[in-house]
Amino acid sequence: MKVLKFGGSSVAKPERIKGVVDILKAYYSRGDRFTVVFSAFGGVTDALIEMSTLAAKGDETYTKILADFCQRHVAAATELLKGDLLNQVIPELENNNEVLKNLLYGIFLVREASPRTLDYVLSFGERSSAFIIAFALKQAGIDASYLDARKVIKTDSSFGSAKVDFELSYEKIKEYYVQNPEIQIVTGFVGSTKGGLTTTLGRGGSDYTAALLAAGLNAQSIEIWTDVDGMMTADPRLSSNARIIPHISYHEAMELSHFGAKVIYPPTIQPVMSKNIPVWIKNTFAPSDHGTIISSTPNREQGAPGNIVSGISSINNIVLITLEGSGMIGIPGFSRRLFEALSQEKINVILITQSSSEHSISVAIEGAMAVKARQAVDHAFANEITLQKVEPLKVEEGLSIVALVGENMRNHTGISGRMFSAMGRNGINIRAIAQGSSE
Ligand code: ADP
Ligand code: ASP
Ligand code: MG
Repeated sequence: MKVLKFGGSSVAKPERIKGVVDILKAYYSRGDRFTVVFSAFGGVTDALIEMSTLAAKGDETYTKILADFCQRHVAAATELLKGDLLNQVIPELENNNEVLKNLLYGIFLVREASPRTLDYVLSFGERSSAFIIAFALKQAGIDASYLDARKVIKTDSSFGSAKVDFELSYEKIKEYYVQNPEIQIVTGFVGSTKGGLTTTLGRGGSDYTAALLAAGLNAQSIEIWTDVDGMMTADPRLSSNARIIPHISYHEAMELSHFGAKVIYPPTIQPVMSKNIPVWIKNTFAPSDHGTIISSTPNREQGAPGNIVSGISSINNIVLITLEGSGMIGIPGFSRRLFEALSQEKINVILITQSSSEHSISVAIEGAMAVKARQAVDHAFANEITLQKVEPLKVEEGLSIVALVGENMRNHTGISGRMFSAMGRNGINIRAIAQGSSE
């Protein structure tokens, strides 16, 4: 069994969907067993967020974006499908569109889109795309069947970025696939709680859906089909000399994605790594190109250029928060309390660094979380701040993180020196450094 996943840009337009259908027809005629995960059509998740935000503000222009959403899906179905199949799909889409319309009107009336409601709204993107594409595949002679992932991906109720119950999900996945041997066409990104409420797995989460299915089915491999040639040495939008990495290890891929390589959603690696399932990244627009293979034993001979640094990634709009004060020195528990305060507010820690004197600890977080972080940490240390043992949280905005990743770096000297001098020559001030012992 192989698990394939096609991202939003691969299915942004009906012509592109036709290209995907051709790729899958080739798999089908070879007799391969596979299942396919689809994202929402390109731009649709952003549009659903925008309509909800406008509706919650009482701005009626949300209806315009909603009308575009409805029209886009009906038009795609009409272009891709004929006869009976089209007649089966249209009423279902219209029904969905009606539910979405009512939901948004509800948000408009109460002027509120809670994370729970928003997840339900967002699910319409993947549910519409996978549904239409399942029928396009049937029309192409593939024994395809639509699977709403809410049936098999079980999560907690942290709406917006729900945590997966692996055991329960794997059990449901196995059971479903045994009972339904057709080629399952699955909605990415969505899951549900035990009580049946709709959740989402975080932006970019369709990659994760594919990994969960692969782990649940003990798949032979997973293929992430996207709009670039594979995982590259840098973000191709930022660096014109980015090169494709033919082979990379799970750890390196995880590190690059954690620090901003959007081509793969960071949580994706863990479930497949634990079962040693290789991950291919392939270009939908150049299907015969090699792509990247992520595995536990990357072939270094053909690895990244130079074989020392595998890649560089970066994230913008970072905030560095620093807790400092003489009262912290030698007293255990300060960092625990700092991280507890952040985790209670669900603030994701991207990077940590501590001065060797224990006088200060700095943590990089997403820019949007700055206000919450300041409130939470100042509240947690209110006593110490009053006693002047600790200073109020220092917040520095408008920073970026640059990560240099390569498992081979530990065997070479001078790599960090070269990185720092390149930064210095270009007038870039370094505010904090962190190095994993794995390098
Ligand atoms: P999809 O819609 O297929 O999920 P994404 O937009 O989520 O696609 O991810 C693919 C994009 O990731 C590419 O278009 C590219 O701009 C960006 N990207 C950032 N860093 C890298 C990298 N190191 N290698 C490849 N792509 C990268
Ligand atoms: N459609 C979702 C998003 O845009 C999930 C995905 O594309 O992976 O974040
Ligand atoms: Mg993606």
